[in-house]
Amino acid sequence: MATKKTKRKLAHSRLPMQRQLNLQHEGKYFDLRSLFDRLNHKYFRGRLRGYKVMWGRRRKHRPKDYFTFGTIQEEDRLIRINPLLDQPFVPLWFLQYVLYHEMLHSVVPDEIASGGRRRVHTDEFNRRERKFQSYQRARRWEEENLARFLR
Ligand SMILES: [Zn+2]
Repeated sequence: MATKKTKRKLAHSRLPMQRQLNLQHEGKYFDLRSLFDRLNHKYFRGRLRGYKVMWGRRRKHRPKDYFTFGTIQEEDRLIRINPLLDQPFVPLWFLQYVLYHEMLHSVVPDEIASGGRRRVHTDEFNRRERKFQSYQRARRWEEENLARFLR
C-alpha cells in the first residue's frame, strides 16, 4: 500500500512543544527514554526528575574535526543526543556512556576557574564519570571510532 504524502503548511503541521518532544526519544535502534530511566535508577537513585531526552536534529553538514555526541540544557532539563549515534554499529554501552555523561552534568556543579572561565568537566566530574561501568571501554571506542562520525 502506498502512502500519499500531503503537504501541509508548516503552521498547521507543527505539533505543540510537549508532544513534539515526547515523540523524539525513540530512534530507529535505540529508545533514549528507557536508557535514561535505567541509568537514572542505576547511577543516580532516580534523582533526575522531569528531564526530557531526545535525539537531536540531523545536520546537513557534518563537522570536520569535532563531534558533539550530546548536550544538556539545564534550564529546560533537556538532553539531546546526536542522531548519528542511532546506528547499529554503535554499541549500547557507548550510547549509555554518552547519556550518562550528560546526565552527570545535571548533578555535578560547574566551577569557575581562576581566569573567570567556567569549567564543566571538573575533577569531581571526571572522578564520577569514571564510575560508569564501561568507562574505559567507551573512551577507547570513542577514540577508535570518532572518524566514522566526522566528514
Ligand atoms: Zn560534558
